Amino acid sequence: MKIIDLRSDTVTLPTPEMRRAMFEAEVGDDVYGEDPTVNQLEAEAAAMLGKEAALFVPTGTQGNQIAIMTHTTRGDEVIVEAESHVFYYEVGGIAALSGCQTRPLPGVRGAMDPERVSAAIRLDNIHYPRTALVCVENTHNRSGGCIVPQANIEAVAEVAHSRGVPVHMDGARVFNAAVAQQRPVAELVAPVDSVMFCLSKGLGAPVGSMLVGSRDFIAKARRNRKLLGGGMRQAGILAAAGLVALRTMVDRLAEDHENARRLAIALGAIEGLQVERETVQTNMVLVDIRDPRWDGPSLMAAMGEAGVPCNDVGPRRIRLVTHKDIAAADVPVAVERIAAVLKAGPTAASARSVYA
Ligand SMILES: *Cc1c(COP(=O)(O)O)cnc(C)c1O
Repeated sequence: MKIIDLRSDTVTLPTPEMRRAMFEAEVGDDVYGEDPTVNQLEAEAAAMLGKEAALFVPTGTQGNQIAIMTHTTRGDEVIVEAESHVFYYEVGGIAALSGCQTRPLPGVRGAMDPERVSAAIRLDNIHYPRTALVCVENTHNRSGGCIVPQANIEAVAEVAHSRGVPVHMDGARVFNAAVAQQRPVAELVAPVDSVMFCLSKGLGAPVGSMLVGSRDFIAKARRNRKLLGGGMRQAGILAAAGLVALRTMVDRLAEDHENARRLAIALGAIEGLQVERETVQTNMVLVDIRDPRWDGPSLMAAMGEAGVPCNDVGPRRIRLVTHKDIAAADVPVAVERIAAVLKAGPTAASARSVYA
């Protein structure tokens, strides 16, 4: 049985062209700034995003945490959206690494109310922490890859900038947002001061993310990358795959979006499942479980056994992610397997659940 792995777009394998580029990459010691392939990747990433400079980092998490560390000092406050990756999934790094406290604000599919952001920015008062940064996320992971409306990002950035506060975008999947809206990625990130995006997700590179911003910001970020142990040596081996990702893998994200759309329609028609179709905007499908015999963990376990692994993202919710290693023809096969799992019902093993 061929596994149709819908857990995440991080499971994508490097393409033959990436492996060839890695094999042939010209390399040097990047801590000395001497790796020509890393330098090329940083230059191309900065140009694509319309910013002055870029930094190659091992992971998206490190990229976000370096950005936060670079924008803040200890004791500062960072405004985050309550369901955002930096707040929810980065091991408390804002506190542990930057010594900052977070101010989570509610969002609607990732979009924070600019008026609430404005009200949350601290006034100058001896009792208060300094609001040092606002973080936005596009696409928004926990809402199922929703695109944060550009007008919202502009409004939040305007409010922050008017009070002298910079804005960082966790753009792990910002290229999905750009392709889905048929807009240049540079336009999407124009309102913000720094951006992190992942090469290792839908773009298919084996390892790596980019942090992008002003020349001065990236120079400081480079020191913080070293501090966090992210100064890599002949990293051109990895950057070579990243270059292939940037040059050849962006436009095809539209196929993943189309596959997600088709998956959402078919799964929504299965008895016991429900899909909120308006949230299926890029390469993710959130599925709510209405069949009382299942919960998120038990359905996830049963789907894994049936050759369609996914992730649970709530007590009664699973998440399916499409990517380059899922072909259009895999979609009906996956749907068939999932329908069979629901029809058969939970086995003793799959019924065991952490939420039980
Ligand atoms: C995946 C992801 C990250 C972190 O990337 P890693 O490379 O897994 O550390 C950050 N933000 C969002 C929104 C993500 O989806």
